[in-house]
Amino acid sequence: MVIAKCRECEKEYQLNSSDNLGDFQCECGGELDYVDDFEVKNENSIKMKRIHWNTLILGIIVTAFLGFLLGLIGIIIATLCVGYSVDKNYKNGAVHGALAGFIGGFIAVNIGNVINIILPSNTNTEFGLLLITGTLIGITIYGFTGAICGAIGAFIKQKRS
Ligand SMILES: [Zn+2]
Repeated sequence: MVIAKCRECEKEYQLNSSDNLGDFQCECGGELDYVDDFEVKNENSIKMKRIHWNTLILGIIVTAFLGFLLGLIGIIIATLCVGYSVDKNYKNGAVHGALAGFIGGFIAVNIGNVINIILPSNTNTEFGLLLITGTLIGITIYGFTGAICGAIGAFIKQKRS
């Protein structure tokens, strides 16, 4: 057992020594630090820190933008940054990278689709079906790429610290 204390409100929590501190946050949303003091007054409810919304939303915007401009390379660059900025946990990096890749990729692909529809050069009758299939394949690849690059980004951060 180890004790972690909130940096903001100083509430204390009991964690298993195998737990990764980066996976948790205080119920007030504050970051936790380990403490040597083993006197715990009471066990407070602890929750898993799953989604870093600020990083994710920013990541989606950057992914959509770079994905639209550079395609898959843009998605790779953006989701590497997302994984790097989340924390040192590669699973978290992968989750955030995948979400950014999937949602950002969806936006990027649809900007392209809208432009294709507006442009008068596309008179193909099978165009609609191709568009849907292409979109689905595109966002699947982007989401998958995002998961891998997000994990790599978190891994790079872990190695550098
Ligand atoms: Zn707190």
